[in-house]
Amino acid sequence: MSITLRDTVLTYPDGDTRLRALDNVTFAVERSELVAVTGPSGSGKSSLLAVAGLLTVPDSGTVVVDGVDTTGLSRAQRTTLRRERLGFVFQQSNLLASLTATEQLLMMTHLGGGRVRAQRERARDLLSGLGLGSHLDKRPNQLSGGQRQRVAIARSLMNDPSVLLVDEPTSALDEARSREIVGLLATLARERDVAIVMVTHDLAQLDLVDEVYEMHSGVLTRNASTAAA
Ligand code: ADP
Ligand code: MG
Repeated sequence: MSITLRDTVLTYPDGDTRLRALDNVTFAVERSELVAVTGPSGSGKSSLLAVAGLLTVPDSGTVVVDGVDTTGLSRAQRTTLRRERLGFVFQQSNLLASLTATEQLLMMTHLGGGRVRAQRERARDLLSGLGLGSHLDKRPNQLSGGQRQRVAIARSLMNDPSVLLVDEPTSALDEARSREIVGLLATLARERDVAIVMVTHDLAQLDLVDEVYEMHSGVLTRNASTAAA
């Protein structure tokens, strides 16, 4: 398994009590699998991604990334693991307005001068592979919403992650563009052997994913009926 959560509990302070954002969540995704997590607003979906992405430490339970049990790791160790093994794509593509598509990807690298050329080549290859070969030097305001999301996806792949965590990637896109993006994620999972967890409200695209989970008040359930064979 690339990412495993076991009996994970996450609470937030809520007046005199605590709110259970994740209520004993157990969940595992393998390499080359695309899994969708649906559920109403406020049900805990982003909390799930934050815990899986080592951004938030759960109150209890276990998070294993690529075989590494993260329980008890220091903040620095978590950051290193996150940089090396995890990729993120957010609802809004979070691109920097002043940078070209290629530069958005180069922002992800923390390398010295000698390897800049190789990284630039990698950035171009990734963007071209996602259909942006003629947009390498475009800035976000010169790209459509779907193209910006592709740049964000390409950026998330720069470090060759084992796990990609994607929060509502299609919320700003029309139906056809949404389908392209989810189809693209399904292809990437298989071709790049990456485990993808995608939070989505977009029920129309669930036939493209391997597995569907539903979150309700912090409780995650596998939905056998909608998952593809
Ligand atoms: P979703 O992504 O499904 O909309 P979230 O994971 O963002 O749900 O939130 C789950 C619950 O936790 C909600 O009730 C939300 O209000 C609460 N919550 C999320 N983040 C915080 C926080 N930083 N502090 C307090 N409560 C939070
Ligand atoms: Mg959310």
